[in-house]
Amino acid sequence: MAMPSGSRAAEPIPAHVHRRPVLQVLLWFTAAFGTIFAILNYRNGNYGIMAAEIVMGVFALSLLRIVRRTVHLQRWILVYLVPFFSVMMYALTTSLAAPTIFAWVLLIPILSHLLLGRWVGGAMAAFYMLVAGAIFFWKFGLDPGFGNARSVANVALASVCIFGFSYVYEVSRENAENQLRRMALTDPLTGLPNRARLGEVFDSEKARHLRSGTPLCLLMIDLDHFKQVNDRYGHDAGDAVLCFVADTLRERLRPSDLACRLGGEEFGIFLAETESRQARAVAEDLRGAIAAEPCRRADQAIDLSMSIGIAQLGPDGDDLETLFNAADQRLYQAKIGGRNQVVG
Ligand code: GH3
Ligand code: MG
Ligand code: MG
Repeated sequence: MAMPSGSRAAEPIPAHVHRRPVLQVLLWFTAAFGTIFAILNYRNGNYGIMAAEIVMGVFALSLLRIVRRTVHLQRWILVYLVPFFSVMMYALTTSLAAPTIFAWVLLIPILSHLLLGRWVGGAMAAFYMLVAGAIFFWKFGLDPGFGNARSVANVALASVCIFGFSYVYEVSRENAENQLRRMALTDPLTGLPNRARLGEVFDSEKARHLRSGTPLCLLMIDLDHFKQVNDRYGHDAGDAVLCFVADTLRERLRPSDLACRLGGEEFGIFLAETESRQARAVAEDLRGAIAAEPCRRADQAIDLSMSIGIAQLGPDGDDLETLFNAADQRLYQAKIGGRNQVVG
């Protein structure tokens, strides 16, 4: 059948795409500022922290290449942030450091939330901010210039505010991202998942198939003479028919199956834990249901039928593209065999 983008596996939609550039900027900043501060600390004779800054700068530069490509971004973020914050804590403890160095602590909640999300980031920020607070009291608790209530309140409240704002920002950003992902994976007309979602589910189902040999079948459905429905009843009626078919699929399939609208009047279904013999029975049931009951709309009763091609993961192909091609060829056979039939 006409499958313009049909025979290609859908690209998975990556989550947290914003974290990679944030980490890259942090790595560049660490390398640049690390060099500047290392020179200043060398001049002040603060050799311990100078060495730590040089090590972090070189570490940051060497991570830049990995971070550009890695699929394990979260792991590398942790690998970097833990020593980064730890060196920051060490810098706070050094006796030669100026008290204003504590201003850097305010970066912790922002970086943690941006790079690690609300839970891990929130926990990490809380931990290091408490450690920084303890160091502050240890160093300046008895100092009349810093240890008084007003100074402590200023620092503490500013820290709490920045933690709170970055947490709330991250929560709303995550919600917005989830909504965008849902929209990107859903067909707006029928509310069914779309082709991209099918690609995602295929990846996890294939992993399960390889692990435990669970069978998986793909049904490819194309409505028969759908153009005539549009021509005869109008485009709105055509849309209503597509929603009617989607509802029928939802009603008749198990929760573990996945019905998608591939595009136009074509639907794809993954039948989980199903071999092709059982898949033929399911396809027959769907075909029969659509042929038996017209789509009723006001005073119209629109007769429908559909053709279905079936392919099974393994016997008919090991990747989504081959599986689509196999199901597509059988769908084509169903069409030339007279339509309103299942070939599998
Ligand atoms: P066949 O039995 O060979 O599949 O014939 P067909 O008429 O179903 O196939 P064809 O590919 O010629 O026509 C498909 C039609 O589906 C043409 C297009 O206008 C219509 N269509 C595609 N997307 C939509 C949509 O979102 N809404 C409506 N109403 N029509 C759509
Ligand atoms: Mg078609
Ligand atoms: Mg058609």
